[in-house]
Amino acid sequence: MGKVYLVGSGPGDPELLTLKAARILQSADVVLHDSLVSEEVLAMISPKAELINVGKRCGHKLLTQEEINSLLISLAASHEVVVRLKGGDPLIFGRAGEEIEALLNSGKEFEIIPGITAAVGAAAGARISLTDRRVASQVLFTTVQRGVGGSDVDWGTLTGSTTLVIYMPQSDYAHVASLLRKRGLPEHMPCVLVSNASRRNQRVHWTQISKLSDVERLPAPTLLIVGRVATQDLSLVASRPSLTDLLGLDSDRLTANDERLN
Ligand code: SAH
Repeated sequence: MGKVYLVGSGPGDPELLTLKAARILQSADVVLHDSLVSEEVLAMISPKAELINVGKRCGHKLLTQEEINSLLISLAASHEVVVRLKGGDPLIFGRAGEEIEALLNSGKEFEIIPGITAAVGAAAGARISLTDRRVASQVLFTTVQRGVGGSDVDWGTLTGSTTLVIYMPQSDYAHVASLLRKRGLPEHMPCVLVSNASRRNQRVHWTQISKLSDVERLPAPTLLIVGRVATQDLSLVASRPSLTDLLGLDSDRLTANDERLN
């Protein structure tokens, strides 16, 4: 009986694969991959392996999640090394939860090999620290819409020291900007869009909430980072703490805005 590997391919640069992922790709018999996996990473797969693209193409789903789960299990009966290769890290917005459940229920042997998630790849591309201690105390990995009904995600309470990393911001930046405003973030809050992080065609676009709606759509995949760390202007990050900060007061809470919303 074969073994299934849920493998993270990282953001695109093949040198950002883990050594373990590279080794497993070399010994794979069959690889089920997403469309997010870069050509360069696909080129690292053993030439003897069968490749199955189970991702979306032109917004058209090739296989449903249930079909992918069943396929993984049936392939493990006939192949020794079955790889489910996902963009970034398999456990971050990668639908791994359903696959893990199906694999556990099937009794098949499986292992998860982490990858560098887009948030980290994009932060490296933009050369910013997501948790710069001078202005950030927490990071929220989130997205815009989620689930079957596609309803807006509740980002909960954000503070001025939250770095928000928005996966799948889609092309409607005006909608994202309106969600950020609804959560009480100020117009001047910096944002950075990183398209194709770690790839040769990487693009980094610096902006702020007030200008986000006017930004030209960047090629997918694109990630949006919002927060005081998301700036090239280091004087904003390195500015001296205010008196309230020194007194230990929570000056970052956007209380006024929260109250306006309630
Ligand atoms: N499991 C993946 C995320 C899958 S969701 C991970 O851990 O990275 C798909 C979203 O990830 C895309 O819409 C985009 O927002 C982001 N993404 C993935 N690869 C990216 C890249 N190279 N550059 C920018 N964003 C990327």
